[in-house]
Amino acid sequence: MRIVVLAGGIGGARFLRGLKQAAPDAEITVIGNTGDDIHLFGLKVCPDLDTVMYTLGGGIDEKQGWGRRDETFHLKEELAAYGVGPEWFGLGDRDFATHIVRTQMLGAGFPLSAVTEALCDRWQPGVRLLPMSDDRIETHVAVEVDGEQRAVHFQEYWVRMRASVPALAVVPVGAEQAEPAPGVLEAIAEADIVLFPPSNPVVSIGTILAVPGIREAIAEAAVPVVGLSPIVGGAPVRGMADKVLAAIGVEADAAAVAEHYGSGLVDGWLVDTADAGVVERVESAGIRCRAVPLMMTDVDAAARMAAEALRLAEEVSA
Ligand code: GDP
Ligand code: CA
Repeated sequence: MRIVVLAGGIGGARFLRGLKQAAPDAEITVIGNTGDDIHLFGLKVCPDLDTVMYTLGGGIDEKQGWGRRDETFHLKEELAAYGVGPEWFGLGDRDFATHIVRTQMLGAGFPLSAVTEALCDRWQPGVRLLPMSDDRIETHVAVEVDGEQRAVHFQEYWVRMRASVPALAVVPVGAEQAEPAPGVLEAIAEADIVLFPPSNPVVSIGTILAVPGIREAIAEAAVPVVGLSPIVGGAPVRGMADKVLAAIGVEADAAAVAEHYGSGLVDGWLVDTADAGVVERVESAGIRCRAVPLMMTDVDAAARMAAEALRLAEEVSA
C-alpha cells in the first residue's frame, strides 16, 4: 500500500508516527510544508521538515513537540552576547548542526529535496520525506500594527507575536512561480491513498496545496483522500490555527474545515467524538464523515486515528 501524506510540523509528525505503527508495511511518502522556512544567522531553517524528521527519527523533544531532545542553548546565548538575534526563535545547539549541514549543501548547489534526503540518511524516519518544492516559498501574514498594515514572516507572526493580532491575510510568497519537488507529483499519481493529517489547514496543508499542480494532482487522482480535523470542539487542539482560519474566512469548526477543502478534494473526513453533531453537515457537503477520538495523547492513540483514516479510505473507495 502506497500512502501519501501532506504534513506540517507537530500535527503531521505525530500522526505519521501513528500511521507507521498502524500500517507497518505501507510505503509512506510525506510531502512536507516549506512555507514556514526562514533564514536565521545566515542559515536555512526548515521547521516543519525537521519536526517530521526528528519525530520519526526519535530525536524530538517530546514535551515541546519541536526541536531536539536533551537540547542546550550555548550558541544562542553567545550570539545574544554579541547582540545578534532574533532572540525569539529558539535554535538549540544540536538543532544548529542540522541547519549548518543543510545550508552548506544548498550552498554547494544541491536542491532542498536532495539535502532533505541526505539529512534523513542519519535519522531514518521510515518514510520518504519530500519538501513540497525545491523553490523558495515563504508564508507571510498581513497584520495591522498601530493602524498601519504590514506583512511579517509567518514565524514572526506565530512565534514572536504569538498570533496576538488578527491575521488579515496569509500569502505563500513565491508559491505561484514554484514547482513541486521531484517525486511529489509522481508519488501522488502512484498513491493508493492520500491523507491529510490534523495539520494546520491554512499555513501547513493550505501552503502545500498552493504549489501549482499539487492540488490538481490530488483532486484528479482516482484514489480516496481522507482528512482528520485539527479542530476539536470549536478550537485548535494546539496552537492558534483559528487566527489564520479567520484570515481566509473559515470558521474554527471541524465541519467548516471539511467544507473549506470541499468534496472536490477530500472524500472522507474524521472529526472528534466531541464533534459528532457535525457529521451530518459534513456528509451533506458530499464528504463521508465519521466521529472518532482524535486526540494524539500517545503513539497508540495516533495509531488508532490512522487506522480509522485507513478504514474510512477503504469505505469511500468501495
Ligand atoms: P505545526 O506546523 O507544528 O503547527 O503543525 P501542523 O500544522 O502539522 O499541525 C498543527 C495542528 O495540529 C494544529 O492546528 C492543532 O490543532 C493540530 N493538533 C495538534 N495535536 C492534535 C491532536 O492531538 N489531535 C488533533 N485532532 N489535532 C491536533
Ligand atoms: Ca509549521
